[in-house]
Amino acid sequence: MEFSPASLKRDFPIFQDSDLVYLDNAATTQKPGIVIETIESLYREANANVHRAIYSLGTEATNRFETARLKISKFINAPSEKEIIFTGGTTGSINLLSRSIGNILKPGEEILISEMEHHSNIVPWQLAVQRTGAVLKYIPINKNGELDISDPEKYFTPQTKIVSLTHMSNVLGTINPVKKLAQMAHSVGAVFIVDGAQGVPHMKVDVQDLECDFYTFSGHKMLGPTGVGILWGEMRQLENMDPFMGGGEMIDTVTMESSTWNSVPYKFEAGTPNFAQAVGLGAAVDYLENITMEKIAEHEQGLTNYALTKLRIIEGLHLYGNPPKRGGVISFNLKNIHPHDLAQFLNEDNIAIRVGHHCAQPLLKTLGETATARMSFYIYNDESDIDKFCHSLDSIREYF
Ligand SMILES: *Cc1c(COP(=O)(O)O)cnc(C)c1O
Repeated sequence: MEFSPASLKRDFPIFQDSDLVYLDNAATTQKPGIVIETIESLYREANANVHRAIYSLGTEATNRFETARLKISKFINAPSEKEIIFTGGTTGSINLLSRSIGNILKPGEEILISEMEHHSNIVPWQLAVQRTGAVLKYIPINKNGELDISDPEKYFTPQTKIVSLTHMSNVLGTINPVKKLAQMAHSVGAVFIVDGAQGVPHMKVDVQDLECDFYTFSGHKMLGPTGVGILWGEMRQLENMDPFMGGGEMIDTVTMESSTWNSVPYKFEAGTPNFAQAVGLGAAVDYLENITMEKIAEHEQGLTNYALTKLRIIEGLHLYGNPPKRGGVISFNLKNIHPHDLAQFLNEDNIAIRVGHHCAQPLLKTLGETATARMSFYIYNDESDIDKFCHSLDSIREYF
């Protein structure tokens, strides 16, 4: 199949009869019609609570839900669909981990994250530290915006129990050497968690090849609906973990005094699950696989190089980070123009970019800024979007 963003765009209702230039894909992505229709048809044709009902409608809903789980497991090459836990998103997945494996840390034991993390891979660990007396440590970044692991013994110590790092920075676009980092974590006996919110949507992810213990991501950043995300975990780890939430479905038996747990993954899916959203995410996975993740990564790479070439020659434009291995995220500022003013002017031309701290205040502090502008790409963007952006930028710079 020939990769053509212009023809892909036709699959997305939001781009029909619209000149929208959508460059805020690191925040959320647009939805193809097939995802919207799949959710609608679940509600129209097969709506019943899953895993409970004996009647046909309940069986149909359960089948669609469990088929989505299987699809997602294959998409990331998980050894078993039982290792796929449906959560509310990356934030939900990391909070689950911080409440289960984070809760059993002892005072002085260490959690290792980095300066480039999203708040959802910082705050849950700060809360775990408050509960347990464990210590939170940060891997710094270098001038290019890469993790600085030149002195690994400083960060990976015998006290390190949990290492949780982003696959790709949502501010700098840096793609981290996840497999190498997993090996470093394992060499000191720590578990390794990947914040894959910017990983899975943009590249082929094979959780076995990455050698991680846990991998987390959000449906809405990969053409899927909001309200659904994934926690993948290695079965042995999941079996040994305590549940985070209690309620229906996650139990085996309940007496007035105590309860025993259902098997993995249901042990971690208390209450009625987000089955309509899960089925929608399954449709998004089909859509992405049909294009292939290899082609998507290649397309975003080309687009990023094109944008960087054009941006580098704009006078007074400062780019943040220059990582050699990067994905489709570019942060920048224009001299003498506040990023919020910039975003407002671009909006006049129906161009959507993000400005602010991007839920990464510690990183912005390291960069010496309180806000940057950010453009981020996905499958439906093409060079004409970047040309329109640059054209709009020219008139803004004339105005100021
Ligand atoms: C968006 C994002 C998150 C949080 O995802 P939610 O869907 O808001 O839970 C975490 N990490 C990174 C790198 C992100 O880009």
